[in-house]
Amino acid sequence: MGGAGLPPRPENVVLDSGEKSRVLEQVRRRGGVCHNCGNDRFVVGDALYLGFHFRSADPDAYLIALTCTDPDCPSRHTGITLARRLFLSETRTAECGAVPRRNR
Ligand SMILES: [Zn+2]
Repeated sequence: MGGAGLPPRPENVVLDSGEKSRVLEQVRRRGGVCHNCGNDRFVVGDALYLGFHFRSADPDAYLIALTCTDPDCPSRHTGITLARRLFLSETRTAECGAVPRRNR
């Protein structure tokens, strides 16, 4: 989410391969497709914490960047909003000082 050719933003969370796989699993579970071309395959980018930015967002909500893999898609950039527990690793959740919801 730094934009092509721009340095990454410090507030973004760079996901590891396991976290990206969990994001793609959530996209599949929701039947997520590209709104511009109908493709159901995406490359996962960085996550941005939304929880404290918007009153309507859940306190543990993140927006994760998705890029449609179809090179002919007219607008390839989109995203998915997910709760932290659905994609971040346990280690990272502990680093963030948060308690996973299922352990409460
Ligand atoms: Zn597309």
